[in-house]
Amino acid sequence: MATPVTIPSSVAARAATNYTPDSNGCWNSNYAVSSPGYPKVGWQEGEIRRAVTTSRAAWTHHSGRQVPEGGRVKAKCRNRLCVNPEHIFMVERPANWKPRKINPHNPDLPRHIKDPVKRFWAYVDKSGDCWQWNGGRSTCGYGRCRWDDKSQYAHRIAYQLAKGPIPEGMYLDHKCFNTLCVNPAHLRIADTYQNAQYHQGANRDNKTTGVRGVHPHGRGYSAIIGYNNGYLYLGTFDTVEEADAAAQAKREELYDFYKPAA
Ligand SMILES: [Zn+2]
Ligand SMILES: [Zn+2]
Repeated sequence: MATPVTIPSSVAARAATNYTPDSNGCWNSNYAVSSPGYPKVGWQEGEIRRAVTTSRAAWTHHSGRQVPEGGRVKAKCRNRLCVNPEHIFMVERPANWKPRKINPHNPDLPRHIKDPVKRFWAYVDKSGDCWQWNGGRSTCGYGRCRWDDKSQYAHRIAYQLAKGPIPEGMYLDHKCFNTLCVNPAHLRIADTYQNAQYHQGANRDNKTTGVRGVHPHGRGYSAIIGYNNGYLYLGTFDTVEEADAAAQAKREELYDFYKPAA
């Protein structure tokens, strides 16, 4: 499990002493502010680049302690820049605290693995049917990774590693609707048009049956799939399974999608 970062005393001292006081009595850190609005102080630890908030580092400096696992440094002035020891305090982990999930600055992650293919798969949890990506994510919930010095979709890299190149202009569709899944067996090639069709209509957003294309209808379930920018009604069935089977069969029939040579 991830252990909290140990802040070197020189770093803590830098964070605690580089500030500009203001008229509220706050000591505003001179360090650059990161995206959530907290200034951060960084250092290099072997190959790993570390960064913590300046208030956390300053607290370490003044208390002579490291912040315990799950602990947080807060400021009673609510000023995120503040490193004044009179304003900042540490709260021990709350009762409902859980160890944090893997994050990209965690040394437990396989960043240090030199071989890019091995490193890639080390980010993947293959214990389930879906192979879960544990690395970074895009804002829309897809796995992202650094590959060929570019930020790329993890599922596309996984597919290419397992099955070969993706033809120009083609997309990969998640048959399992799990955007973090990188199992090549759950990915199929689609063009933009097919991809849009796959995602039209009832799918992962279907809150009522949880099955794509299947909606409660009267006493049964109707099967509806997206087609030609509209919807295709396939009839109403007694069970979710029957409606699902009808929707799947029709999809396969309509979208004779490209299948790569085995
Ligand atoms: Zn303050
Ligand atoms: Zn999957």
